[in-house]
Amino acid sequence: MTTHLVWLRNDLRINDNHALYAACRSNSAKVIALFIATPKQWHSHDMAAKQAEFIWQNLQDLQQSLAQKGIELHLAECDDFSASVDVLVDFCRKHHVDRVFYNYQYEVNERQRDAAAERVLFDNDVMAQGFDDSLLLPPGSVLTGNREMYKVFTPFSKAFVKRLQEGLPECFSAPAARESGPIKDVSPLKPFNYPRESVDSSLFPVGEKAAIARLREFSQQPVTHYPDRRDLPALDGTSRLSVYLTIGVLSPRQCLYRLLKEHPRGLEDGKVFVWLNELIWREFYRHLIVAYPALCRHQPFVRWTRKVAWRDEPRHLTAWQEGKTGYPIVDAAMRQLNSLGWMHNRLRMITASFLVKDLLIDWREGERYFMSQLIDGDLAANNGGWQWAASTGTDAAPYFRIFNPTTQGERFDAAGEFIRRWLPELRQVPEKYIHQPHEWAKKTNQKLDYPVPIVEHKQARQQTLDAFEAARKQM
Ligand code: FAD
Repeated sequence: MTTHLVWLRNDLRINDNHALYAACRSNSAKVIALFIATPKQWHSHDMAAKQAEFIWQNLQDLQQSLAQKGIELHLAECDDFSASVDVLVDFCRKHHVDRVFYNYQYEVNERQRDAAAERVLFDNDVMAQGFDDSLLLPPGSVLTGNREMYKVFTPFSKAFVKRLQEGLPECFSAPAARESGPIKDVSPLKPFNYPRESVDSSLFPVGEKAAIARLREFSQQPVTHYPDRRDLPALDGTSRLSVYLTIGVLSPRQCLYRLLKEHPRGLEDGKVFVWLNELIWREFYRHLIVAYPALCRHQPFVRWTRKVAWRDEPRHLTAWQEGKTGYPIVDAAMRQLNSLGWMHNRLRMITASFLVKDLLIDWREGERYFMSQLIDGDLAANNGGWQWAASTGTDAAPYFRIFNPTTQGERFDAAGEFIRRWLPELRQVPEKYIHQPHEWAKKTNQKLDYPVPIVEHKQARQQTLDAFEAARKQM
């Protein structure tokens, strides 16, 4: 009997899992699965403890689903990527594996690891086969007329939709149970040797079933209100599916098919398409890191922005991280991040802009801090978002477009509902003053246990404009 191994990474699901589907195609093969944790690597990439915990919890759920199908899940742990290749090869030897099936990851280090793994496996008479899986369309498949990667999002999105209209990507069903029948006794998975932090299970319930249920619910009515509600952080107006998409508990194809099932004209329908377009942003950033691997090394896309003289101001960085800048919308957002491991998209834009354009701190500090907190931390999306906000990326906000943190708050949390939720010290401040609470404190002679703004926005804005202009002149 031949043995097929599914090497799981960020594809922790049984439905629409390309590698799992391929491994199970032959009924006669024995199929087993392996996940290799690499805590040292995770540390060096600032992976959030909450993300590691969420992976571990979802692996437990997956272990049960796979066992129902007669597939045993093994968990191994080693330091880093190069060690993981040795672990994989040893595992294959021990379990007499003939073929390895895996889904591609597109980051530079991951691609190098996979190339090394394929070579060593081949030398050991094990065939390895990789599959495109975590995207709707594979990197390199949506190109300009000159066969280049798009550098601007809107034409990329248009070309992307055209490709989808020509034919939807295949969605793979969950494998049937193996002939050997379900596995009755599964041994508990050992927790990773990594710091542990709990994840709010009422917001982010564990497992594939929960992810699919949230997708179904969101794709019915809420998606039609998405354009009007998505920028208001006090509302539950977005899907909150990023935590599942990032580690592959859900696939973007499942999202697309569900959306089109509920809204058959979803590719054309303005309202529903607004949400689909966000999934296309996700694709755009992943396609970009393949076309421009230097992005994985945190290089700015726009060369001249390397010359920006960032400020080294640890006190400001700490105040931003802790949500103590004196700007209520920024602070409430950072406290949401620190507490939940998730932040609303509008707030990611506001807080990123504040760090870079008000504090003039290198965007990579923010990128790193987000990764260290986010359950949905994803190199491509996070790098893309930070480079967008910092005006260093492709199709980014122009450097002279600088959010005013007070008016952003007034616009997107007018009554201060979100702010009050996260900043209990401002609960008694009336609506009129919630975005400038110290004005109210001064007027009413109250003492507020809340910091005064650490920078004055108008001045900070000018300083940033000067720094960017000076950098531009140097190139
Ligand atoms: P929805 O609004 O429901 O969108 C649906 C899905 O589309 C999301 O789940 C996500 O997969 C994708 N998506 C939405 N917006 C974007 C976007 N701008 N770029 C790429 N994909 C998008 N997203 C991450 O998944 N991981 C990150 O580490 C990450 N870091 C970010 C950092 C910054 C500075 C910024 C501005 C954005 C970042 N984003 C990141 C994108 C976005 O903020 C989140 O995907 C979104 O807030 C997740 O919430 P949701 O699932 O409710 O999104």
